This record gives sequence, C-alpha cells and structure tokens, in this order.
Amino acid sequence: MCNQCQTTSGGTSNCNTTKLSMWRRIVQIIFLAILGKWMYYGVFRCPYIVPFVNCESCSIITCWGRITTYFYGWWIALPILVILFGRAFCGWLCPSGWVNQMLGKFSMVKLNSDKPWIRGLQIGMVLMILAGLVVYFVYGNPRIMIPIRTSDEYFNAVILSVSFGEWYWVTRTITVVSFIVASLIIANVWCRFVCPAGGIMELLRKISIFKVYKTDDCDDCNACRRVCEMGTRPNEMNCTNCGACLHVCHKDAIHFGMKW
Ligand code: SF4
Ligand code: SF4
Ligand code: SF4
Repeated sequence: MCNQCQTTSGGTSNCNTTKLSMWRRIVQIIFLAILGKWMYYGVFRCPYIVPFVNCESCSIITCWGRITTYFYGWWIALPILVILFGRAFCGWLCPSGWVNQMLGKFSMVKLNSDKPWIRGLQIGMVLMILAGLVVYFVYGNPRIMIPIRTSDEYFNAVILSVSFGEWYWVTRTITVVSFIVASLIIANVWCRFVCPAGGIMELLRKISIFKVYKTDDCDDCNACRRVCEMGTRPNEMNCTNCGACLHVCHKDAIHFGMKW
C-alpha cells in the first residue's frame, strides 16, 4: 500500500493522480497495440491525401484499416465516444496522441493556453479541417501515392513511398511528421493546434455529456494548468478529459461528471 495514502490528504491526492495516470498509460499502450499499425499506415502509407476515409476501396490490403473492421469501429464508435466524453479519445486512446505526449515531455516550451494569441493558434485546426473538406468533396480525395511495398519493412517502405509519391502526398506526409516532431519544441503542438480530427472533436467537446470540469470555487491559481500536458484547464480549450488534474486543486473545484 502507498504510504502517502495512509498519511496526508495531499499524499492521497498525489497517489490518486499517480494511479489514474498509470491506468491512462496502460490504456494508451493497449490501444497503441490495437490501433498503432493502422495509424502508421494512415500517416506513412495511405495513398490518399486525406487518410482513414477511403479504406474500403484502398489497394493496400495489408493495412489494418482494410483487413479489419477498425474502419467501421472508427466511424461508428468515435462519434459516440465524442458525444459522451468529448476529446477523451485524444487523452486516452489515440496512438498518435500518445506519441505526441511522450515527445512533449522533452519539449522546450509548453505554451499554456491562457493567452488570447495562443488560443488563436487553433485556427490551424480549422484550416486543416477546411483543407480536408475541400480535398475530399471538391477533388474527390485522389489516390496519389503508389504503395511500393506493403510488407512490414516500415522504414524502407516509408523511404520508398516518399521517394515515389506525388509532391502533394509527400508535402502532406512531411507536414504531419514535422508537426509531430515539433512537439520536442512546443509540447503537443500537433494535437493542440493542427490535427483536423482533434479539431472536429474540439468543436464537439463543448456539447459532450461527461467531462472533467471546474466549479465556481476556482480561484485561478493555475495549478491544474501546470500539470496539464495540453497546457489548459478543465473543460477549457484542448481539454482531453485525461484526468491528470483531478486531484491537484486546493479548492476542490475539479470534478468529473455531467456538466452542461
Ligand atoms: S489531436 Fe489528433 S493526433 Fe492528437 S490525440 Fe487527438 S486525434 Fe490523436
Ligand atoms: S487548480 Fe483549482 S483553483 Fe487552481 S485554477 Fe485549477 S480549478 Fe482553479
Ligand atoms: S485540464 Fe485536466 S483533464 Fe483536461 S487535459 Fe488538462 S489535465 Fe487533462
């Protein structure tokens, strides 16, 4: 048993936070194993400009989006999850989110979202959503990369794909990877300001049913923001319901439940 739990109330909070964080990492690792390969294909191997949406007609038969029912799970389960728990997919399940969060631990800058100009950076998500809609509905989401190899030779396959892909496919792939690697400079920059899937969930987050939220007892001490890997506070911009801040509030103002 944890000694802290037996001694102080502050220790209890720390212990609860640690346990929740541990469970979140376990869930993330499980979903990394389940969804990781599909995510990898989506970023590096999917021949369409907008990945994850044309799996049914895709020629890469070794992609898990093609050979499993993940595709249907994604498009049926994800909207339900978002309506129930907002951006919990980002905080608990997304393999790409996990990669961003791990890289973000080494970041030089956190960019807390308490300043208006930082909140304004979410325009990046809006632009990415608009770009995706235009590519899909105006240009029919063309297939513009010939998958050179479909085996599990990950690195060679990526190098060959980039070498032989059309320039706009290469541009979109390098852009995505660059923003993810940029988490080493600005924590979680892709997930907070660029990812179009995260942007759609961010829009719907406000009408989700269950969420981590703060009450009027909040005195703006920002202790929750300091532990938040998204640089935010409960039920504010980019909150993923990860729960890392649930036990840090000295006013006991942070709760999880229904909040309209
Ligand atoms: S913002 Fe995008 S990449 Fe990041 S965790 Fe959410 S869905 Fe995944
Ligand atoms: S830790 Fe509590 S009091 Fe401090 S900003 Fe967060 S919700 Fe408000
Ligand atoms: S505000 Fe709290 S629940 Fe929301 S993402 Fe940050 S640490 Fe997680």
